[in-house]
Amino acid sequence: MKPALQLIPKAPASPEINWAEVERNTASVAELAALLRITERGVRLRIERGVYRTYQVPSRLAPGRLETRVILSDDLHKRIRKARRRAEREQSGIPRKRGVVLDPENDRRLAFTTEEEKLVQGLWLERTQPSVAHVFDQAVARCIRCRRAPLSPTMPGYRGRYAIHRCASCGFELAYSAVRRAVMRTPRPAAVLGREGINSFVNKHGTYARLAHLPWHRNEQAYGDHHQLDILVYDPREPFLKNGEARLYRPWLSAWQDKATCVVAWRIGEHANAALLSLAFRSYVLQ
Ligand SMILES: [Zn+2]
Repeated sequence: MKPALQLIPKAPASPEINWAEVERNTASVAELAALLRITERGVRLRIERGVYRTYQVPSRLAPGRLETRVILSDDLHKRIRKARRRAEREQSGIPRKRGVVLDPENDRRLAFTTEEEKLVQGLWLERTQPSVAHVFDQAVARCIRCRRAPLSPTMPGYRGRYAIHRCASCGFELAYSAVRRAVMRTPRPAAVLGREGINSFVNKHGTYARLAHLPWHRNEQAYGDHHQLDILVYDPREPFLKNGEARLYRPWLSAWQDKATCVVAWRIGEHANAALLSLAFRSYVLQ
């Protein structure tokens, strides 16, 4: 196990021991036991087995005696540092910095009014699925508060694309992260409807009523219908009219469908007449 920093052992009685450095790079047996949630005896056992390397310093509590301090490995070093900071924080009563807003009224982030937030979300809710960057560019191009002027960067020297922009007319300030937060707050169904369309919305968020299942038997109900197809065809047996022009026509489809099995039988013909209907029905019966 490699210590975080190799200590140069000094003579135990040496008066110029750098205590700060000793504290930083070593831990007392009691401190380590508390960190690892084991007994001091457990720590001593590990020292005996060679798991931890130790260093002897003159005890500050009992003058004239030596104290064993454990040299911290990289991993232990990190954990001890964390534990010491936590202990310090608990003693001082200061809340953790990360994730805690000391003044909830003012977290010092640029925010929108409800109406402005909806305007930003409206720019994002397009069928073309614009990115947040595109929404930001659009909001910069025309102030969303006064709708009079484009916004300009607050720091003229900084040429970053997402710099904070301000409206010269009304003082409205816009930040990329504020736009992003507003966009992320869009309700999911609204986002799907606006960006993916009505079909996607119905598929993902629509409510369906389950129809009662009716146990139809085969051949209990059959439906038949004609339909004239949207193609022009010719009959190879009779391709021309008398005047020499091609004889083209739109053919008819005659089909029968069984409700229970969904079997479809069909025939295609020139005219929708009884003959075609009968042929299709014959096909249906034979299936
Ligand atoms: Zn403005």
